[in-house]
Amino acid sequence: MRYEHKVAIITGGTKGIGAGCVRAFVGAGARVVFCSQHAGEGDAMAAELSARGPGTARFVQCDVSRVADIEHLVAQTVAWYGQIDCLINNAGWHPPHRPIDDFSADEFRALLDLNLVSVFAAARAALPYLRKTHGNIINIGSLVGSMGQLHATTYVATKGAVIALTKALAIDEAAHDVRVNAVSPGNIFTPLWQEAIDAADDPARARADGDAAQLLGRMGTPDEAGALCLFLAAEATFTTGVDHLLTGGAELAYGRKTRKA
Ligand code: NAD
Repeated sequence: MRYEHKVAIITGGTKGIGAGCVRAFVGAGARVVFCSQHAGEGDAMAAELSARGPGTARFVQCDVSRVADIEHLVAQTVAWYGQIDCLINNAGWHPPHRPIDDFSADEFRALLDLNLVSVFAAARAALPYLRKTHGNIINIGSLVGSMGQLHATTYVATKGAVIALTKALAIDEAAHDVRVNAVSPGNIFTPLWQEAIDAADDPARARADGDAAQLLGRMGTPDEAGALCLFLAAEATFTTGVDHLLTGGAELAYGRKTRKA
């Protein structure tokens, strides 16, 4: 797959799924601008990937919970390259699992800013440029946004809303030939998943259960996520408003789901 001379913004590209996307797009010849909330965190990665090519990568500090930071990320990209062809809204977080009683409304509001309002704000800032290039947006949702998850009310709500926003925006932006899709991972082995393993009572069991949740018997990789996103951006030109499940079949078949002993 080729994406030469195209310009892509990828939020949260220093680790996990976002890093898989950065590698895939640089490998296809794109000029990538990626961010994290930590100053300088992606500088070494940007230098290494640019040296390897064929595309290039540049890092910008941006906390996607802050709309001003997102606007700066977009403005900096346009100052460097004068165009935007693809926006991947990937940055997000899954808080540790808890029943609803143990989440506060303020925690929920902060998670909405990080996982949902950021998607809206980045799309709004980038769309004037994406309309000119007939570009596309890829929002990273989650399988649990459509099927739910134990002790994850706030996270599931943010991701369900990301999928709904994707469909609504695809309708509006079709008038400008901008495609808007979601990619909803099931279990992809990333530093975020490692956080969940570390927080579990039985970490080895948590990892084994994570692998066993898929028909394919393993978690996905960040590079597999990058490959799907690159395909959506570069090749899937008749696809818009679709929630693409990247799950290894995790949503299929019955499992033992009762919450009663
Ligand atoms: P990760 O924690 O491994 O990496 C997250 C990336 O986002 C990092 O680069 C981090 O610096 C960045 N980030 C976090 N908060 C940020 C902020 N405020 N501003 C800017 N950047 C920020 O996570 P991951 O597993 O790669 O997840 C990436 C996305 O995929 C998230 O939206 C997550 O909800 C979603 N997702 C992941 C899985 C999975 O199994 N890993 C499953 C479903 C959905």
